[in-house]
Amino acid sequence: MESSIHLTDAEWEVMRVIWANTEVASSEVINVLQEKTGWKESTIKTLLGRLVDKGALETVTKGRRFLYSSKVTKSSSLNKLTKELLDRVCKTHQVDIVSHLINQASLDQPAIDKLMEQLLIKKETAPQIVKCECTIGQCECNHFIEGEHHE
Ligand SMILES: [Zn+2]
Repeated sequence: MESSIHLTDAEWEVMRVIWANTEVASSEVINVLQEKTGWKESTIKTLLGRLVDKGALETVTKGRRFLYSSKVTKSSSLNKLTKELLDRVCKTHQVDIVSHLINQASLDQPAIDKLMEQLLIKKETAPQIVKCECTIGQCECNHFIEGEHHE
């Protein structure tokens, strides 16, 4: 399942509580997030409401309990987040993002083994050269705006 729902940084904090606990009461989300972020109860309730409106959460009634559960998986949301990040740069510079991620990530030996294996598989079908597909004027690959100053 691929999620098309964009999550803000604050919404992501809420979703992490839901993903970690499956079905959660607003009081539990408030407990977790007030500790971490210091947000007001009303702020967290607003975020929960917004996530329901967006279709990222649904409400479930269990007896007298009113619970929130996720309609989007963590993996589909991570996929969306990654795509949003990669889409911000020219295809020829996406390697820079991957490179920064590798440098900044906490990677243990098994994780590095997994990545190396993934790269070898990727290499089998990768093109010789990735080409720019940017909108003209948005990329240093194509200086089509004449007379404009380029940084
Ligand atoms: Zn480009």
